[in-house]
Amino acid sequence: MKKVLIVGSGIAGLSCAISCAEKGMEVTLVSPFPSERAQSVLAAGGINAVTESCEEGDSIACHIEDTLKGGCYIAGKESVRGLCEDAPQIVKWLERIGTVFTTKEVGTVARRAFGAQSYKRTCYCGASTGKQIVTALVMEARRFEALGLIQRKLWTDFYSALIKDGACYGAIFFNEATMDLEMIEADCLVMATGGQNALFGKTTGSTQCDGYAQGKLFMQGVELKNLEFIQYHPTTIVTSQKKMLVSEAVRGEGGRLYYLDGEKRVYFMEEKFGERGNLMPRDVVSRCMDETGKEIFLDISFLGKEEILKRIPEVYNLCLKYRGIDITKESIPVTPSVHFFMGGIAVKNNHETNIKNLYAIGECASMYHGANRLGGNSLLAALHGGRVAAKSIGEMTEAAEGRPDFSEELKAGQEKLRRLKESKSAFPVMYIRDLVAQNVQENLGIVRNEEKILNGIDDVTYYLSIVDKIHYDNSEFLYLGYSLEGILTLAKAALTCALSRKESRGAHYRSDYAETKDEYANATIISYENGEYRTRLDVEGTYES
Ligand SMILES: Cc1cc2nc3c(=O)[nH]c(=O)nc-3n(C[C@H](O)[C@H](O)[C@H](O)COP(=O)(O)OP(=O)(O)OC[C@H]3O[C@@H](n4cnc5c(N)ncnc54)[C@H](O)[C@@H]3O)c2cc1C
Repeated sequence: MKKVLIVGSGIAGLSCAISCAEKGMEVTLVSPFPSERAQSVLAAGGINAVTESCEEGDSIACHIEDTLKGGCYIAGKESVRGLCEDAPQIVKWLERIGTVFTTKEVGTVARRAFGAQSYKRTCYCGASTGKQIVTALVMEARRFEALGLIQRKLWTDFYSALIKDGACYGAIFFNEATMDLEMIEADCLVMATGGQNALFGKTTGSTQCDGYAQGKLFMQGVELKNLEFIQYHPTTIVTSQKKMLVSEAVRGEGGRLYYLDGEKRVYFMEEKFGERGNLMPRDVVSRCMDETGKEIFLDISFLGKEEILKRIPEVYNLCLKYRGIDITKESIPVTPSVHFFMGGIAVKNNHETNIKNLYAIGECASMYHGANRLGGNSLLAALHGGRVAAKSIGEMTEAAEGRPDFSEELKAGQEKLRRLKESKSAFPVMYIRDLVAQNVQENLGIVRNEEKILNGIDDVTYYLSIVDKIHYDNSEFLYLGYSLEGILTLAKAALTCALSRKESRGAHYRSDYAETKDEYANATIISYENGEYRTRLDVEGTYES
């Protein structure tokens, strides 16, 4: 029986685990926290799919075109076609396993408008789409757990992959209970570790997603892609702990963005783009907000209390609870914040990386979204990616007898942890993490230029040079200690990608190269060899087609 090791138990990891178990494979699903704590549960807005209950005129072809256009035409057409064609089946399957979608009338899934989509096609479960989907997936996974096909393993963090001669054989993990490393061998490894939020400090996402796994794999020879494309969500509110998302559903329900010129409201998006201006792609809205240099407000109060409580109760509660704002009477002061990563691990159409038997799915992988993601396409991509990877794994031939021996790698890792525990040098790890977050927020912001990016690279290169002198005053934070180098490496890779793309496209806007250039109409691939970071454009379409 094929053994599949999946790291990360959000929607992508669960989708893949269930699909593999359905095919009779034996799955180990590893994560530090239960699925119910993964970032996936934060998704409120919805999931895109064209089914019979869509508006008249909508079609799968239109969903494909909106996705390609939103991504500024650098996502692979074949992969996007697969995504949009699978969407109706995914929504039906989700309903079958117990996801309760909001309905217009009995049996007809309701839709809401999301940015840059030609029709209202986003299915939703009230205000908690991600949570409802995770709940249904966990119940389904439990069924296979009872059959002995899925084993869920908690309090376990990724340390490194077992890679030799271009093939993968499992991974080494940090066990938070024993405070030691352990090795899990498998026929293939699937990474589903989410985005890179914590690298950027306060974002709309979960701090569990810090990008360490992507950074470490990169150091182990796995290619990354499109790291310069970072989505700033236009409407967030700042709280002391994090940036809270004010769902795009507010603008989908007619919410209007404006700034004040004295007493007068200036509806700048509508002035610039007409009636649908507030629902332009996220990169466009964020940049326009940034350009005004003013405080921006979002008004939905004109809908009236009854409709607001019916249509967007979560936003009403969120604003009242975290900022004391009653959105039935007042506008919401909003600001763009880091929200989603179009870039990540480079994968081919079947979600395999450049390393044999090593797959990546969900937000940690780069696929489908090109230079900018459409709202509602990410949950879809996480579910679809899990299914595609499982299909490919099911078709792969059984590994030949005789696996390489990785005991030296395990010993080297254990030695590193021992050194960290005894470290007495001068630089506290959290201080460096904060500096890196400030660095990437500043230098990979909504608007970049060469000077900023080079400054960012200089700083990160310096932090990397002192990584062995980091001070850990509490060995319970060993994960923070060993993950720092991978996180710094990922930061430098992202800055290097941004430096190499000398144009503006989607979420990557450079004030020194403001135009979009045909010669850059391909994904950026970055690789790492002996400390060197090398970028190239994927002109040949080695990854997505
Ligand atoms: C506030 C918010 C609202 C959103 N709303 C929507 C929406 O309405 N529609 C939409 O389509 N998308 C939305 N998104 C995006 C979407 O939720 C995510 O892209 C998607 O859920 C990612 O799923 P995932 O399974 O790839 O990752 P996650 O759900 O982030 O899961 C990652 C898993 O990896 C684990 N992990 C991380 N690091 C390690 C490590 N080092 N070792 C071991 N395990 C690790 C985590 O613990 C977790 O289990 C939203 C995002 C946010 C932040």
